[in-house]
Amino acid sequence: GSAIAVSDPAVLAAIDAEGRRQRQNIELIASENFTSRAVMEAQGSLLTNKYAEGYPGRRWYGGCENVDVVEQIAIDRLKELFGADHANVQPHSGSQANTAVYFSVLKPGDKILTMDLAHGGHLTHGHRANFSGKFYEVTHYGVTEEDETIDYDALEKVAVELQPKLITTGASAYPRVIDFERMGQIAKKVGAYLFVDMAHIAGLVAAGVHPNPVPHADFVTSTTHKSLRGPRGGIILCKEEYAKKIDATVFPGIQGGPLMHVIAAKAVCFGEALKDDFKTYSEQVVKNAKAMAARLASHGYRIVSGGTDNHLMLVDLRPAGIDGGIAQHALDEAGITVNKNSIPFDTAGPFKPSGIRIGTPAVTTRGMDEAAVEKVADLIHEALQSHDDEAKLHEIRERVFEFNRAFPLPR
Ligand code: PLP
Repeated sequence: GSAIAVSDPAVLAAIDAEGRRQRQNIELIASENFTSRAVMEAQGSLLTNKYAEGYPGRRWYGGCENVDVVEQIAIDRLKELFGADHANVQPHSGSQANTAVYFSVLKPGDKILTMDLAHGGHLTHGHRANFSGKFYEVTHYGVTEEDETIDYDALEKVAVELQPKLITTGASAYPRVIDFERMGQIAKKVGAYLFVDMAHIAGLVAAGVHPNPVPHADFVTSTTHKSLRGPRGGIILCKEEYAKKIDATVFPGIQGGPLMHVIAAKAVCFGEALKDDFKTYSEQVVKNAKAMAARLASHGYRIVSGGTDNHLMLVDLRPAGIDGGIAQHALDEAGITVNKNSIPFDTAGPFKPSGIRIGTPAVTTRGMDEAAVEKVADLIHEALQSHDDEAKLHEIRERVFEFNRAFPLPR
């Protein structure tokens, strides 16, 4: 029986309602996924009770013999998964992993060259509202207006002029392959560190369906909860020469005790990602994104950069005469979950952006294939056409729930 049912019915009711929402709705937020039951079991385990400041074999607390085993398994599997020299599995989140990288090699006021949030970068890539934008002297690069992809020649020019201490690459909303080899060459040419934040694409990289940044970067970070399909959390990979620095920056630099229950869930996730069926899954994620983008384009929407190479796409809604906020709301009413998103060179402000971001990791975990996501694209189109007709949106929602029943959540 459920202990929460006895001790805290109010919280249980909200959890149950969220369970219903996750089961019924079509989940298209590009940064979300459904973990396995095994990952959730590890994360919900009694390891949450344990303090373990330090690292395996060198802790500040007694009684760490079992959590040492767990953390070492996580580290070993993570190194194997990405071919890394060194791995730190303790960052509580992607943002904290990024903080640790910056704090390891930069001083306040140092120059960094990073991808603009408005062109797909992340807040921690030097946005003015984030510590990274306040502590460092930030210059942004972005995509070109012509084909909405990164112009590496232009980036190289800026890097040569600027002589930054560090270059950040990786994105939250970039649908194309990032040429990490070229980024590595540029960084080397100007004597900058290359820092790759692969949070969104880590699962694709693990499965070999996106090039691996590890051979080209000094530091690679990721979240574990997106395409990698693990628990909410962060990781850092680096060359051996930076291992001590990174470890000391994470603890005691910016964190206290590691979340050992989350690290156990990370270990389970890495074990799953090492298996052959994770490769099949990730290949399907990309096939589904391509099929979805093509179908939406056939309905008249403009797909930023003309398509996708990875798990996500940006849909420019201006041809439909609506903005991202209206679309997100209408799709919510129709049981389809997306997020509003700026598109490169957006003429509207960040609160009324011109696009939505759509990703396929979650629906692919539920077993959808190309034919299924094409059907989802048709439902999206239907809902957007009826964005101001609540009764119609609710009628669509009934069909969305019915359709989604064929795709059960993972066991
Ligand atoms: N880096 C990128 C590229 C992301 O997309 C995100 C998440 O949105 C993060 C870092 C931050 O991760 P977290 O939300 O765990 O702090």
